[in-house]
Amino acid sequence: MNLNYPLPRANAQTNAYWDGCAQGELRYQRCGQCGQVQCIPRSLCDRCQSSDLPWSASRREGTVLTFTTVYRAPLPAFKEMLPYVIAIVDLDEGFRVMANALSCVPPDALAIGARVRIGFKEVHGMALPVLESILEGAK
Ligand SMILES: [Zn+2]
Repeated sequence: MNLNYPLPRANAQTNAYWDGCAQGELRYQRCGQCGQVQCIPRSLCDRCQSSDLPWSASRREGTVLTFTTVYRAPLPAFKEMLPYVIAIVDLDEGFRVMANALSCVPPDALAIGARVRIGFKEVHGMALPVLESILEGAK
């Protein structure tokens, strides 16, 4: 494991999310009281502060809100990945994920508004959400 690579750290609130990623599931919370969808996981609902927050699994399809191509590594650990694409995707269930695109999704094929699918990639022993493929709306 490359200790210089900044991996997310699971905690009591996010364990179920990261366990889901390891099992190929993109999980989110839907409030049992008011229906609010949230991800980043929290112990209380954003809207009504209920702690009744069961987990659901996303269909992993969504729409690109925005994206950028990174040509200069913000940390030395990212240099070998250059250039890479970071996208913000609005999932159909109503939450948002920021994810790197797999190299099979070239930046010149991506577009704002494109329909995409989220998958997972193992990075230094941890399964991270990634933009896996473009479903429709490619340039
Ligand atoms: Zn609520």
